[in-house]
Amino acid sequence: MRFTFVTLFSNLVEGYFQDSILKRAIDKELLSVEYLNPREFSENKHSKVDDTAVGGGAGMVMNPQPLYDALGSLKKDDENIHIIFLTPVAKPFKQNDAKRLAKKEHIAFVSGRYEGIDERVIEEFADEVFSIGDYILTGGELASLVICDAVSRNIDGVLGNSESLSVESFETPLLEAPSFSKPKDYKNNMVPSEYIKGNHSKIRSIKLALSECKTKFFRPEQLLKHKITKR
Ligand code: SAM
Repeated sequence: MRFTFVTLFSNLVEGYFQDSILKRAIDKELLSVEYLNPREFSENKHSKVDDTAVGGGAGMVMNPQPLYDALGSLKKDDENIHIIFLTPVAKPFKQNDAKRLAKKEHIAFVSGRYEGIDERVIEEFADEVFSIGDYILTGGELASLVICDAVSRNIDGVLGNSESLSVESFETPLLEAPSFSKPKDYKNNMVPSEYIKGNHSKIRSIKLALSECKTKFFRPEQLLKHKITKR
């Protein structure tokens, strides 16, 4: 999988690939990461990439020319590239999207800054738009990384133990049951006794009950979905 980050601030993104799972995936050539700075395409003599909003409104907007040319060059290079814009004005990104996008060959993430991107660029180039949640970030770089990370761990070979993917939260409507590591007794707090006894069918039913409790508390709407799918 090839990822291209279209950003004014690639140094905010680069560090994330310098350690741990995604670094190993790059070393194994399962992933590659590239950067494209729209500023390099600016025709403005000062390489400006933003301007005031037409029609008024607070703040600056990323103007169309540098992004049009940057994204045009990406598409010319690879007509099958899948271009994703990060914006709060979009559907929320979900685990199913991560699994679906893991089958693409080349994804570009376009990060906005300032008050966002001129809508005509989004209309022209977006294959998809995503929000990562109901809050406003200063830029799209973190949102791009969130999606890139979630997609990458669904690419074959990226995780050491791919079995862990199938038992995680959001694979079913239920959130994952609590996990414990050793020792069994830590500062007088015990792991649930049924986990210790090793009766796997009993452990499964305790984990299911705990999953249901967690889901009821944190995500009651998900529990409803679980009850409907169980019928
Ligand atoms: N004025 C915009 C609005 O109210 O919708 C917010 C612009 S925000 C300050 C600048 C950039 O950060 C956006 O263009 C987008 O790329 C990114 N961004 C901010 N919050 C985001 C979110 N929740 N999900 C995805 N991207 C986000």
